[in-house]
Amino acid sequence: MFLIYCPYCEEHREEEEFRPKGQAHILRPKDPEACSDEEWGDYLFFRDNPRGIHHELWVHAVGCRKFFNVTRNTVTYEILETYKMGEQPRITAESLAGGETQGNVQVAGGGQQTVGASNAAVASVKGEQA
Ligand SMILES: [Zn+2]
Repeated sequence: MFLIYCPYCEEHREEEEFRPKGQAHILRPKDPEACSDEEWGDYLFFRDNPRGIHHELWVHAVGCRKFFNVTRNTVTYEILETYKMGEQPRITAESLAGGETQGNVQVAGGGQQTVGASNAAVASVKGEQA
């Protein structure tokens, strides 16, 4: 059984209760009429498909029915964090990569200081939510 943490229910629930809904943090253009066809097409149809850290929109379909965000590693399928709509991820590809080169990174949004980052940062964040 695979469990996913719902940030609204504030508990781990079975994966069958959830549905992925694609890439997270896609902003609708403020003035669609001012967009070129290419810009509007990018907004509607083109999504990132990174190898590694990806932020996704999920819905707790059989639970509270609320949408939330998931930071997932597309290589290992590991879910690194979940967070409510309107919040920013604490784990990003940049924060993990920056931690390896700079050794000391302020993870966005969470106010959490990580040293050394990479797997150690991921493990500490996961530990908080487990
Ligand atoms: Zn829920």
